[in-house]
Amino acid sequence: MSTAKRLVPFGTTIFTEMTALAQKHQAVNLGQGFPDFEGPSFVKDAAVDALRTKPNQYAPLAGVPELTGAIASLWTRETGLACDPRTDVTVTAGATEAIAAAMLGLVNPGDEAILFEPYYDSYRACVAMAGGTPRFVTLRAPDFRFDEAALRAAFTDRTKLVLVNTPHNPTGRVFSRAELEQIARLCVEHDAIAITDEVYERLVFEGEHLRLATLPGMAERTLTISSLGKTFSLTGWKTGWSVGPEPLTRAVRAAHQFLTFAVATPLQRAAAVALGSPPSFYDELSATFRAKRDALCDALHTIGFRVSVPQGGYFVMADFSTLDLSRLGLAQGADDVAFCKALVERVGVAAIPPSFFYEHKAEGRTLARFAFCKRDETITEAVKRLTALR
Ligand code: PMP
Ligand code: GLN
Repeated sequence: MSTAKRLVPFGTTIFTEMTALAQKHQAVNLGQGFPDFEGPSFVKDAAVDALRTKPNQYAPLAGVPELTGAIASLWTRETGLACDPRTDVTVTAGATEAIAAAMLGLVNPGDEAILFEPYYDSYRACVAMAGGTPRFVTLRAPDFRFDEAALRAAFTDRTKLVLVNTPHNPTGRVFSRAELEQIARLCVEHDAIAITDEVYERLVFEGEHLRLATLPGMAERTLTISSLGKTFSLTGWKTGWSVGPEPLTRAVRAAHQFLTFAVATPLQRAAAVALGSPPSFYDELSATFRAKRDALCDALHTIGFRVSVPQGGYFVMADFSTLDLSRLGLAQGADDVAFCKALVERVGVAAIPPSFFYEHKAEGRTLARFAFCKRDETITEAVKRLTALR
C-alpha cells in the first residue's frame, strides 16, 4: 500500500500543530499568524449584501469582473504598469492557492526554483508538488540580509524562477531597493521568472514596500501575489489573487482551473468593495500594527531575548539563547523545538519554532517566531506570562 507523500516534517504544518498544542495547554497563541479580532464591518456587510442580493453560482474562472477590475485598477494606480483584468489577473483561494497554481503551472520536473530561507512553508511543499528542485539562499540572523554572491551562486542554467516574499514571513524584513535590484539583475541575466508574495504589502513599519515588478526588465517576468487576509484581518476568507503578464497568468490559470476552478462568489464581490478603501485605511492599519510590534518587541527585549525588530509583517523573530533556560527545565543550548514546546507547556505561550522554515535547520535553532497580530489584551497577557523567563 502506498502512503501519503511527506511534504512537511510532521505530516501537518507546524502552524496546525502549534495551534492544537496552544488549545490543549490553554496557552496564549502567538504562534499561527491570524488576528484574534474581526475584520472591518464594511467588508463583512458587503459580503452579506452580496450573499443575499446577488447570484451565488460559480464565478468565472479568473474571478468576478468587479474584483479583477478593482485589482487591475489599483495595480495600475500604484505601479504605473498596464494591467488588463481579462488577461493579467486571477482570483485564487488565498495567496496559498496562487502560490501553488504558479508553481504547478510554471515548474517542470528538473526545473530549479530559488527560495530564500527561512521560507513560508508552502513554498517548499509547492516546489516539491510540482516536481521541481529547490535551491536555497539563507537570510541570516540577526539582520536577515542575503549575501549577493550566494544568490548569484544559486542561479544556474536550470533556474526557472525565484520566489521573493516582502515584507517577509517569518523575519519581518522589507527588502531594500538595492536587494531587489540585485534579484532583478540576476533574473534578467538568467531569463528567470520572479514570483513575489506580497501578502503583507500594507503592513510596513520601516522603509518602503517596493514591488519587484516595477524594476527595469521585471514587469514582463514577474507574477505578483497578494490576498485579502492580512490587509483586512479576514484570514478565514481565503481570497487572494495574482497579477502578471498574460503568459504567466496563463500558467497560473492552467493549474487554477483544476485546483479550485473558481473562488466563493459573494466573498469576491466583498473583496472588490474592500479594495476600494482609501489610503487612510492602510495608514491606520500599519499604525495599529506598529504599536503592537513595539509593545511585543520592547517586552521581549526587556525579558532578555535578542530581538530582530521587524520592518513589516505580522511576526518577530527573537533569539532565546540569551535567556536562562533552566527556568523552562531546559539545558542551555536547547533547540527551538524544545524551547517552543516547553514555552507552551510551562509558560502558556505558543510561538513557532522557525527551524521548520529552514533547509539548514541550525540557522533557526536559537530562534522563536512570535505573532503580534493580536488584541492588545492578548499581547499584555502573553507578556505577563513570558515575564517568568526574566
Ligand atoms: N504567504 C505568506 C508569506 C503568508 O504568511 C501566508 C499566510 N498567512 C500566506 C502566503 C497565505 O495567505 P492566504 O491566507 O491568503 O492563503
Ligand atoms: N501564514 C500563517 C503563519 O505564517 C499561517 C497560515 C497557515 O496556517 N497555513 O503563521
